[in-house]
Amino acid sequence: MNFRKVLLLVSAAVLCLGCTACGEESADGISTTEATVQVQVSATTAYAPREIRTEKTYYHAALQGAVIVEQDGSRSFKYQKKCDVCGYLDNTRVNVSKGVGTLDTSFRCHECSNHQKVKIKTTD
Ligand SMILES: [Zn+2]
Repeated sequence: MNFRKVLLLVSAAVLCLGCTACGEESADGISTTEATVQVQVSATTAYAPREIRTEKTYYHAALQGAVIVEQDGSRSFKYQKKCDVCGYLDNTRVNVSKGVGTLDTSFRCHECSNHQKVKIKTTD
């Protein structure tokens, strides 16, 4: 048994003693780490059956005798009669629901008595 080995053993013993002493001393102070249990809310998105409807978008363009005053991409729109001769614009807003095609109608102008044709083209 050489000196070095003894030293090692002694130091080991001291270390061990110190360790146990240390442990006993701070036994009270050991803070119990609260295990924070993270409740994982399942992120699976609730399956909401969505009605997949490829809704058409309609565009209404006044070709003559009218001014489109309101349209939202649906079939329905509003237009005002307009005389292409004198420029008279009727106050009445005509509500129409129409699919693809051309609306053909006519009216007599209040101002110049022109028989004005109305054409509104609807495309999708
Ligand atoms: Zn007119």
